[in-house]
Amino acid sequence: MAAIKYGLFLDNHTMPNCPDVGKNFDPERFADALQECGIDALTFHARCNVGMAYYNTKIGIRHPNLEYDLFGAVAGACARREIRLTAYFNGGISYEESLRHREWSQVHFDGTECYHGISPSLRTMCVNSSYRDHLIAMMAEVAENYSVQGFFVDCLLTDFTCVCPVCVREMKEQGFDPRKLEDVREFRRLSCIRLARDIVSTLRKIKPDLSFFFNGITPEDQSGTGTYLECECLPNCPCWGYEFLPVMAHYLRNFGKKPVLNMNGRFYEWGDFGGLRHEAAIRSELLYGIMNGMRPNIGSHFHPRGDFVAPVYETVRKIYRDLQELDPWVLDAVNRAEVAIVYPKPTPVLSYSPAVRGAVRMLGELKVPFEIVTEACGWDHFRLLIFPDDVPFTDSITERIRHFLAAGGKIISSGASGLTEDGTRFALEKEWGVRLKGKSDMNPAYFTAHEEFGKGVPEMPVSLYVTGYETEHLPGTTVGAELVKPFFNREYDGLYCYYYNPPDTSAGLPLLTWNGKVACFAYPIFTGYHEKAPLPLRTLFANVLEKCLERPMVRTEKLPSFVRLEVQEKGILRLIHLLAVQPELRGKTEIIEDFLTVRESTLEIRLEETVPSKVYLAPERKELPFEFKNGYVLLRVPEFTGYALIVLER
Ligand SMILES: [Zn+2]
Repeated sequence: MAAIKYGLFLDNHTMPNCPDVGKNFDPERFADALQECGIDALTFHARCNVGMAYYNTKIGIRHPNLEYDLFGAVAGACARREIRLTAYFNGGISYEESLRHREWSQVHFDGTECYHGISPSLRTMCVNSSYRDHLIAMMAEVAENYSVQGFFVDCLLTDFTCVCPVCVREMKEQGFDPRKLEDVREFRRLSCIRLARDIVSTLRKIKPDLSFFFNGITPEDQSGTGTYLECECLPNCPCWGYEFLPVMAHYLRNFGKKPVLNMNGRFYEWGDFGGLRHEAAIRSELLYGIMNGMRPNIGSHFHPRGDFVAPVYETVRKIYRDLQELDPWVLDAVNRAEVAIVYPKPTPVLSYSPAVRGAVRMLGELKVPFEIVTEACGWDHFRLLIFPDDVPFTDSITERIRHFLAAGGKIISSGASGLTEDGTRFALEKEWGVRLKGKSDMNPAYFTAHEEFGKGVPEMPVSLYVTGYETEHLPGTTVGAELVKPFFNREYDGLYCYYYNPPDTSAGLPLLTWNGKVACFAYPIFTGYHEKAPLPLRTLFANVLEKCLERPMVRTEKLPSFVRLEVQEKGILRLIHLLAVQPELRGKTEIIEDFLTVRESTLEIRLEETVPSKVYLAPERKELPFEFKNGYVLLRVPEFTGYALIVLER
């Protein structure tokens, strides 16, 4: 598919009794506004989650209060302006169709017909009933009759389990136990993959170059069907928050051969028609995506009457106009990193893992460019792999790591990572230089750092906020930090609550071991960082990073912890992105209103032998003086507010 530069995702779920649908809509004015915003791709509803169609359908239910072909009007106006149109179908939810076809409705694992979770009482659809044929037929209708370039199929979630008779019979045939939730979920996952394949093969016969995205199916499971990826994230909404995008951005960019869209919203949550967030929030989230190779896609609502909501388009226009100035540098730029977090678990486990979130925070705050990879990716080109907290080693991971270490790679593992799947020993005990003794029962546990890893760590027993394992180091391995036991564990003994548990003396057990190749934390430090963000823990981790990465890709001084840094490459250009924003908890909601000013700082970028011909700030092309020393470009980053793009041109 042609690369999308600037998207708009218009939500349009309209209740059946909503009057005057589309009455005030002026498709030409609407499409002109898209063009003025620089939008080259629109996602618009063909059939919504209420079950209403907005096009002339012979098989679906056109909204009863829509008197013309709304989708057709949008498609025509977009086609005249060469704006790419993606048709939205909700594959998982359809109230009206569920009410009219009870046999198409799911029976959830708990026996209910409605799903209670994302929003109250969703009527979800069984993709193994004849609903699947109906859905595919409606999509084919749109592909045949309208100028559309792609399809967005929403809500194919594994949470929407189904134990209707159709599903149960097939589960039994295939050897799944419909009484076990994990079997039903797995069957649902496979059913959604099969639906996606059937949609693609049917629609490709009509239009071979259609693009597809299946929201809810993991990127790995879309390998044969989805042509692009999309990260849906409304950060003010509790189910996402501001920790979600950083994880997904670093994860999705490894499916780099596929374009990735970064969908946020002008509002606080879906269905919030009157929400208009501050420009700085929308802009900074999109900049974060751009730094990670994602293209912006702002979510908004179509007012069902078709009212033109001018302030929304004005906001989008201002934001996109600014972002477009970066296009000559950032379009098609590819991220560079020498560190990877390895987390071989699917989304949403990966997206919400406290271990991954803690690791992402630490690396982000320390300005270390990194990727998040699963087993589907190559690992050999990284210098350092981090296995955060709960990654047991299968035989195949063990074998890959044996080779990785033999080739000179470095490892940081923590908590249960590196243990065999039964949790009884380290899979690579010799290489780890550590033997497992068992689970630790210290609560709370403290640590002190030894001199080699102690730079900046307070010389006192420091809290860990998690519990982990007891290990012993083997000959040739040194202890970098040790555990300190509390006087008492936190508990109630029937008379007293032991809440005040000061540190006593060394437990004689390592927290951190190091043998020149593997740094092993016996406790899940990343989950601990996700819990309380203790600075001494990050400082200890930074000291370990320094051991693992001699001559790192980037060194910085004086950049505040809230600044995020990414490195990209594009032909002869090396791009350094710096983003300075900080969400603030205002009452119940995290808000970004301001771009922050960052005072002059220094930056060192490793370029090995290549001396850049010039270094400048984009888009203004203001040249920056620099030195080239020992393979590093040394420069002073001038004071900036919010965002800076530094370009090194070879
Ligand atoms: Zn079913």
